[in-house]
Amino acid sequence: MSEAPEDIREDPRLRDGTRLECRICWYVYDPAAGDEVEQIPPGTPFSALPDHWRCPQCDAALSMFLVLED
Ligand SMILES: [Zn+2]
Repeated sequence: MSEAPEDIREDPRLRDGTRLECRICWYVYDPAAGDEVEQIPPGTPFSALPDHWRCPQCDAALSMFLVLED
């Protein structure tokens, strides 16, 4: 049993290249691509996103993202 961490950016499964999916609209944040909307440069891991970052498609908060495990 493990509880979900309060801050998804501190999830131990996160690696620099880990992609995360928005549970509202299924947008996938890919660290290799970054996020043009919020001017996040390519190569930025999810764990390094700023507190104010939100889903560029539906404006969901960071906490609404789920780790995609390959
Ligand atoms: Zn979304």
